[in-house]
Amino acid sequence: MSDRLRADGARVLADLAALRGFGTYKSGVHKPTFSEPHVQSLRWLEQRLGEAQLTPSIDGTGNVLGSSDKPGRKLLAGSHLESQNYAGWLDGPLGVVYALEAARVLNPDPAVDGAVEVAAWCDEEGHFGSFLGSRSYIGDVSETEIDAARNRSDQEPMRAALARAGLAERPRVHVERGRHIGYLEAHIEQGETLERDHLKIGVVTSIVGIWQYRIIFTGEQNHAGTTRMAIRKDAGVALAKFCVAIDERFPATCGPRTVWTTGRITLDPGAPSIIPGRAEMLFQMRDDDPDVVDRLERLLAEMAAQATAQGPCSVAIERLRQGAPAMMDGTFQDAIEAASAEIAGGKSLRMPSGAGHDAQFLSTVMPAGMLFVPSIGGISHHWTENTDDADIVTGAEVFVETCRRLLTK
Ligand SMILES: [Zn+2]
Repeated sequence: MSDRLRADGARVLADLAALRGFGTYKSGVHKPTFSEPHVQSLRWLEQRLGEAQLTPSIDGTGNVLGSSDKPGRKLLAGSHLESQNYAGWLDGPLGVVYALEAARVLNPDPAVDGAVEVAAWCDEEGHFGSFLGSRSYIGDVSETEIDAARNRSDQEPMRAALARAGLAERPRVHVERGRHIGYLEAHIEQGETLERDHLKIGVVTSIVGIWQYRIIFTGEQNHAGTTRMAIRKDAGVALAKFCVAIDERFPATCGPRTVWTTGRITLDPGAPSIIPGRAEMLFQMRDDDPDVVDRLERLLAEMAAQATAQGPCSVAIERLRQGAPAMMDGTFQDAIEAASAEIAGGKSLRMPSGAGHDAQFLSTVMPAGMLFVPSIGGISHHWTENTDDADIVTGAEVFVETCRRLLTK
């Protein structure tokens, strides 16, 4: 190890600080996709890639790619540069800067038979769509989808935003099958597991699937002043009871890492002088084990049938979204773990990711792996999001060493 070049921690921290300088908001950033600070960040990365012997390009969906003509194996690495609105400085840029650092350390090294190629996937945070950049790269986005895409905050069409960024009419770059041995992405954990257990590195085993439902309650709309309580069919009350019943009954059936959440609730008509005749709730569950989700789906259906049989309202469940989990490659997991053993005293943990990441789409076209660093207090998607500088540097060293191991196998 001692004779090998390691990540330059000071350079990594300086790069992350430079990216925080575009669109600074308190101690975080406000960097929506194709905003001026986001485009400045894309240009910043484009200019850095030469330091890693990479040829830069920005494609027609805003993906920044650095490609190498060094012979040997090629490993693709990256993350994203835009942020949620008024959010943190590390969600995305950490993985891009680690990838850049790995390329700067390993690509000029003649002892490494191969190169790291760098990617910044556009719009991971979903201002215009759902993972548009990484999905475009794997060939999963049509021109029609881009035509229709609009900024969820101000309704600006994506075509207009691309034109503003000087990216209109550029071709989109798609995956070249067989070019890469795989894709590696680093990210902040966005949870508190690593911090709680005093660990430095999360070795991601899978990215959980997301299943989403609309649960519909049908009662009878009537006058709120003249309808006696005993004969009411109040869909709002049925919804509230069902919501509580889920929290009471799921724990006996769920897996150790299942999470579930109720989103928007609507009462129809939703006026205090009218008993709601219809109510709806959006409901989501996440797990990395489809068998667990199957069990919970059956329980949900059973609960709806029971509630309908007991009355006075009927309950129907509609599945809106079914997301298979993305499994991370075993060789990649082993390489991250071995690098952690060497550099971080083995303070690593294999764990699933409860959040979605670009790696879940890359994993459909090549082996993929992910590495987490601790998040202070588990906070993310907020401007206070942070990670200790020492942990950022350790993560960079583990990332570079993981890349070296994958390239020199
Ligand atoms: Zn992210």
